[in-house]
Order: sequence, then structure tokens, then C-alpha cells
Amino acid sequence: MMACRYVLKSGFHLEMYAKVSPNIGLTTIGKLILHSRQFHSQRCALSKFGFLFDIDGVIVRGKRLLPSAKEAFVALTDRHGNFRVPCLFVTNAGNTLRQKKAQQLSDWLGIQVSQDQVVMSHSPVKMFTQFHEKHVLVSGQGPIHEIAKCLGFRHVTTVEQLRQVYTNLDMVDHTRRKAAPCAFEKYFPRIEAVILFGEPVRWETNLQLIIDVLMTDGKPMSPPKQTIHPHLPIIACNMDLLWMAEAPLPRFGHGCFLNCLESLYLKITGYELKYTALIGKPSEITYHHADHMLRQQAKQMGINGIKTIYCIGDNPETDIYGANLYNRYLQKRARSHKKLMSSNSVPMQAMAQASGQQITDVTTETDASDDCDEDDIGSTMIDSDENFAEKCESILVCTGVYCTDRDFVTFGGKKSSNHNHRDFVIDPELKKPKHVSLNILEALKMVFEKEGFH
Ligand SMILES: [Mg+2]
Repeated sequence: MMACRYVLKSGFHLEMYAKVSPNIGLTTIGKLILHSRQFHSQRCALSKFGFLFDIDGVIVRGKRLLPSAKEAFVALTDRHGNFRVPCLFVTNAGNTLRQKKAQQLSDWLGIQVSQDQVVMSHSPVKMFTQFHEKHVLVSGQGPIHEIAKCLGFRHVTTVEQLRQVYTNLDMVDHTRRKAAPCAFEKYFPRIEAVILFGEPVRWETNLQLIIDVLMTDGKPMSPPKQTIHPHLPIIACNMDLLWMAEAPLPRFGHGCFLNCLESLYLKITGYELKYTALIGKPSEITYHHADHMLRQQAKQMGINGIKTIYCIGDNPETDIYGANLYNRYLQKRARSHKKLMSSNSVPMQAMAQASGQQITDVTTETDASDDCDEDDIGSTMIDSDENFAEKCESILVCTGVYCTDRDFVTFGGKKSSNHNHRDFVIDPELKKPKHVSLNILEALKMVFEKEGFH
């Protein structure tokens, strides 16, 4: 038996296992194996770069696929639909599970997107294992109870469930007021932490009940004589002030809700609301996590390491700021990584310092036995050179929040906006994109040209 290898014009290795027959020469007796993935690995080995794509305003507007997106993903995949370059979809959406978002992307783009290619705003919350056994109150919309369980939380109560237990708390909507208290009220266990996944449907209800929980140290019907401060731990995912849907102007995002919550808490108590952690873009924790996942994907494609991450987004205050902040971190880290290797938690502290975030008391352990579909995030915190790209370049597209013909969201313009979260440093330089492209397709063409990838 002999093996013959042909390199076809189409770019595939065709390998035939054959034996020599005295009468008919080479007779194919084995199978034909198309090694498309291996071949692409060999091609991609020279191109050590990957993409982080924002979704809203880059790939879709609401439920409408942007015209340039389909063509862009044709360029990114081979004729069998395999990705030619490591790609991740990093969204600040938090109202769905990764697998559902992957399916949605697959349907939109007509290619197979795996859940391992999706990072939701809440994905890094899994590493906050110190809260997994605590009774947490979760705020947001969609399957937030299921999401919290998948992230490792074992004792979860939604704001809606809390409202049902403490019927006297939600008083804004007269039609929803209930006179009689719930029979279980006095047996209800104290809330020990609050997780904010995204903007809720009824803002007034969530604002009222979250503030009640914070001011009463988790027992809304047993207020202390004075406000307890510091309040319970609170983690917030997705700080986007605005996001782009079908409407001509951007819509309120979770950042608007956080702004209301912080203002009300300060106004009512006289104290500033302090977050245990802020997760999602532009937080560096999210980018570090994505960096790790991109590297894993590259490894599966036979690419050893990613040098440059290209982050394509439509929002200067989130996507561009976050990419530039992470690049700043990578550069800083490269200069002083010996110092940072002293402990596993140091990278997170360094990130927090770089962004001005108030991150405290975070462990890096994960439960390996967890069978839910979220990622093994703990491993992303191992501080080794192998876990970091060399640089991160931001690319702004003009199909979403940012649009060239208006200055509603600016970078380097006359009127400078600040849509970032309160706890992030104000630095106009961070909002300046490294590149600006008309749309995602033009952005890809620019990168392919730059990287000599065709
Ligand atoms: Mg966006």
C-alpha cells in the first residue's frame, strides 16, 4: 500500500491510500480524506492574528443582518464553512445563554458558529466562586435564573420572585399592588449578594427592590436603625450606556440602569454605591478571558499563539475603549511581567488598577465538575506569557452607535461625550480607534492586507 498526496488548486490536500495493481496501475482502495482543516492550519500558521467581533451594530441592527456581514464571513471561512482565522463574538448582551447566541449567529450568517466562540457579558462571572454558595438576588431579563445556575450560583432569587415574597415593596404601579403579605415572608433567607445581569423590563421595580436589599443588608422587611455601609457585595455585567437597534438613535443600555441605581442610592443614603466587580466590555477581565479563548481556538486550528487581536466594534466608548485599555495592559504587562507573576490574583489587581475599577476579593478557582456549558474561566487567570497576545488593535466600524454623519457619540470631536461607567478612567485617548472602517467587510479587507493574508 502506498499513500499519494496531491495538492489541489482549490487549496485542499487530497490523500489517497492505494495499492499498485499490475493491470490497472493505482487502484483506490481506501478512503479519500480531505484535510481542509489541517491545510488551513498550515496556511494560518503564518498569520498569528485573530478577531473579536462585537455583534450589535457590527453584524446586526436589532434582528436585521447588516449587508456587509454575510460577505465578511464568506471571506473568513472556507467553502466548507470552517473558519480560516480564529474568531470570537464578544457581546455585552446578557439576556441569553451562549449556545442560544451561537445558534442565532449561525442562522444569521449561514455558517456554523460554536458556543466556544461566544463570550457573553456575564461569562467571566463564573470565576467569582466565593459567591456561588451564597443566596444571590439577580436582576435582568430573559432566563437569568438559568444563566445564574449555569455560572455556578446555587441559591438564586430573581427580583420578580422577591417581589412575590415581599408584596409590600413594589408600589409604583398601582395595578400590581397587593394588600396581603406572603405566608413565607418571615422564612425567606437573607439575600447575601446582588448580581446585575442586564437592564430589566420594569426598571422602577428593580431599582426599588435592589435599593431595599442594599439598605437593609439583605432583609427588606427588617430595616436596621441606620443604613448599613458598606453594603452587600454587588457585581454588574454590561456597562453599555447605549446600544444600537433598528431605531435611528441608540437605545438605553444597562449602563443607563446602573446610572439610575447609583444616583438613587447616593441620593437616598448619602453613600456611594461600590461594586465588587464590573464585568463585560470595556472591562479588561472580559478581554483577557477572550484572549485566552481565542488562543484555545487557534490551538485547535494548529496555530501556536496569537500575536495580534483585532477588535471590531461600533462603540468608541465600549469596544474601542476596551480594546485600547487591554492593549495598554498588554504593553504594561510586557514591560513588567516578572513583577506580575508573583501570584495568580495579581493580573486581576493590575487590570483593576489600570481601569480604575473597584475589584475586590476575587478568587481564581473554578469547579471542574460543573457540567454547565459556560467556560472554564479560572484557567484564564493563569499568568503566563502563553496566555497573552502581544497587542490588541481597535477597529471602529460606522454601522452602529458611531456614525460618521453625526456626533452623538464622539471620539476626538469638538463635543466630547463620556458614556463610560463612573468607575472607569476618563481618557479621550482610549476612545480613539487605531483604525476606522466603513463596515465589517472593509475592516476585514484592511486586516487581511496588513497581515498579507489572502
Ligand atoms: Mg455594538
